[in-house]
Amino acid sequence: MTFESLGLAPALLRALSENNYTTPTPIQAEAIPLALAGHDVLGGAQTGTGKTAAFGLPLLNRLSKQTPPSGPRKPRALILTPTRELAMQVTDSLRAYAKHLRLNITAIYGGAGMQPQVDNLRRGVDVLVACPGRLIDHLERGTARLDNVEMLVLDEADRMLDMGFLPAIKRVLGKLPAQRQTLLFSATFEAQIKALALEFMRNPRQVQI
Ligand code: AMP
Repeated sequence: MTFESLGLAPALLRALSENNYTTPTPIQAEAIPLALAGHDVLGGAQTGTGKTAAFGLPLLNRLSKQTPPSGPRKPRALILTPTRELAMQVTDSLRAYAKHLRLNITAIYGGAGMQPQVDNLRRGVDVLVACPGRLIDHLERGTARLDNVEMLVLDEADRMLDMGFLPAIKRVLGKLPAQRQTLLFSATFEAQIKALALEFMRNPRQVQI
């Protein structure tokens, strides 16, 4: 199995080979074709398995197909992560995969000043990586707008619930267009995660490694 055979855009394939990604990991091999086909995906995977590319590549592939309009853009993809560290890590990985695409990828998280994040959002964002609490702050101030989001990723969903983010996640979900693709990754699938998937995902395909 190769990344070429998964049908990813040439600009992504070039970035992958520059990053010495030659063979998809098992979660990538299973999740990428389903996500590229437009399905919602429930992925069971721990960190270190390559899950960032499993959701990031189909997401960037979709965004790469439409040239963004000129001028400030509102996010078309939203990735929720439990911690600032993971938000920064996901942002770095996505920027590496999107090196040959003209997409703005930015992160917002707590424990850092609001103003630089407000400035970044104002300049226009295609992919927003966010921790739930800080995202709510931006939504309340009107500095982040989610009405153009067509892809949502919940990364490490079980950790977000453990950290008490369920109410914030539900508020964010309430602001997203119903017409969207949702990818949820979690190391475990306890009842609360299943309930979240049942309520907010459409006929999700489950992949487990
Ligand atoms: P993740 O589980 O997404 O945090 O990825 C774990 C590590 O594996 C990161 O350092 C990635 O850059 C790397 N990685 C992910 N997928 C691949 C791949 N297909 N080939 C080589 N390295 C990879």
